[in-house]
Amino acid sequence: MAWFKRQSGELDSSGEKRVRTEGLWVKCDNCRQIIWKKDLEDNLDVCPKCDKHFRIDARTRLAQLLDEGVYEIFDDNLASTDPLKFVDLKSYSSRLEQAKAETGLKDAVISARGKMNGRPVIVSAMEYAFIGGSMGAVVGEAITRAIEQSIATSNPLVIVSASGGARMMEGVISLMQLAKISAALARLDEARVPFISVLTDPTTGGVTASFAMLGDLNIAEPGALIGFAGPRVIEQTIRQKLPPGFQRSEFLLQHGMLDAVVPRRELKPYIVRALDFMSPAAA
Ligand SMILES: [Zn+2]
Repeated sequence: MAWFKRQSGELDSSGEKRVRTEGLWVKCDNCRQIIWKKDLEDNLDVCPKCDKHFRIDARTRLAQLLDEGVYEIFDDNLASTDPLKFVDLKSYSSRLEQAKAETGLKDAVISARGKMNGRPVIVSAMEYAFIGGSMGAVVGEAITRAIEQSIATSNPLVIVSASGGARMMEGVISLMQLAKISAALARLDEARVPFISVLTDPTTGGVTASFAMLGDLNIAEPGALIGFAGPRVIEQTIRQKLPPGFQRSEFLLQHGMLDAVVPRRELKPYIVRALDFMSPAAA
């Protein structure tokens, strides 16, 4: 017989044991430092220690770029109809439902009217959290309408890309958006209204292959992954090892694919200055 017997109920193992700290601290996956989340947010979601630019959602982006964080959203009622009734591991319609619930958006872009330093602008910001920011018929239509708004009002256009490319669940319909948007941008060009393309981490596939690289200025955030095909596919095709930093903004700037790499803190002043230069009359 044991000399010690635990009385039942003596230890209370139920209930919360840990103090809730989750969400207060973030680990930077570049420098591995622990950062206080508030510090990170105050620094526009850029690591204060190593300058890594964290991904931000479309609403945060609009709030950072537009005066007083004030903007008016338009064309937010468009939603995909799943034209191919596509199913992979999950059905596309259930993916759409999940993404809608998680982001509160109908698709992967928000278009807004607002002001930058007092100048009226149209800004479309892509939402990476919505099925990888992929471009289907809705994103294509929303961006085309934003371009048409710019043409109608002569207000400059800024598109902030964050996308894995065309949305494969919409097959050829998503690929058609490349041509549609490019044609709209050609009309914007004829109307002589400026378009600044901001490429953020990541901007790949069909988005790079269409509007993201068609700006009057193509600028990127530091360290952003920008490319068309992934590095593994390219290595297998050309049978060569790719250089370090390949497909990052700094590498692309060096090789003439971008006009500038602009840190997030300087992004708004940079765009404002560029627009003053491109259309001084409207200032
Ligand atoms: Zn860091």
